Amino acid sequence: MSLDLLEDLKRRRRAVILAHNYQLPEVQDLADFVGDSLEMAFRAVDLDADVIVVSGVRFMAEIVAAINPDRIVLHPEPNSRCPLADSVNAGLISDFRSRFKGVPVVVYVNSPIEVKAVADYFVTSSSILRLISKLNVENVIFGPDKNLADYISEKLNVNVIQLSPESHCPIYEYLLDEYYVLEALKHHPNAKLLVHPQVSKNVRRLAHFVGSDNGIVRAIGDLEGEEFLIGAEEGLAYRAGKLYGGKRIFPVNCRAVCIEMKKITPRNIINCLENLKFRVTLDREIISKAREVIFSSLELLE
Ligand code: SF4
Repeated sequence: MSLDLLEDLKRRRRAVILAHNYQLPEVQDLADFVGDSLEMAFRAVDLDADVIVVSGVRFMAEIVAAINPDRIVLHPEPNSRCPLADSVNAGLISDFRSRFKGVPVVVYVNSPIEVKAVADYFVTSSSILRLISKLNVENVIFGPDKNLADYISEKLNVNVIQLSPESHCPIYEYLLDEYYVLEALKHHPNAKLLVHPQVSKNVRRLAHFVGSDNGIVRAIGDLEGEEFLIGAEEGLAYRAGKLYGGKRIFPVNCRAVCIEMKKITPRNIINCLENLKFRVTLDREIISKAREVIFSSLELLE
């Protein structure tokens, strides 16, 4: 197996490879584009290719397929799934709609496509506060992720009804908790701490900056200082390190590794491209409804 073989396959299949920020370094290095889930979906629209390989978890491959319905979208490891996304389903939304009539349902990007299709709005970690404040409502149904629900309540004057009050990402909840952050700060007392809002409230309180993956990467360029601690899945520190060669950038915890993300390897990317295996096929109606929710949410932010 070699990268020459991969390049040859990409040419023959007219394929591009997209990788999420939390992918293995070797997968980020071979990708045509590295970014967050929504960026991958929209970047693919502009790429001249028939086949799109998505290196990320299942819900990410689904968004890329929904935004690029006429392309062949491959997910190299179909068992790479986000447990947070899988903690909600479409039935839960209809249950909440009948219990809380008229309250808008906002879902996080980490959710299955069937859930996005029945929501009113969808958000990413970079749009969450802007979109919900634009709704100008007293109550909002939101899920999944209890820490993000807390974050909304903390920052906005809105009552958050949680779709699944226990849902969380195990990496952000356990491997990036206060203990690890305080230990990291002890070893890097002059570092600026930048965290993703999926961490707990106690960790957010210690941070110099709270924001999305892209927000964190941009903030490293904007903030004073040469040393930075990233409170996010450890793959983001690799991406930031590549972008800012001169700065000292460390993950808060080098064991804050999302095993699901790391199921994608160069070998299974080559395998799926060689055999055009593991195509993401979605129901047409689900695609159309999910697109409506995604595009109307993006329009609201303009
Ligand atoms: Fe899901 Fe957490 Fe992995 Fe992200 S890091 S894909 S939220 S389990």
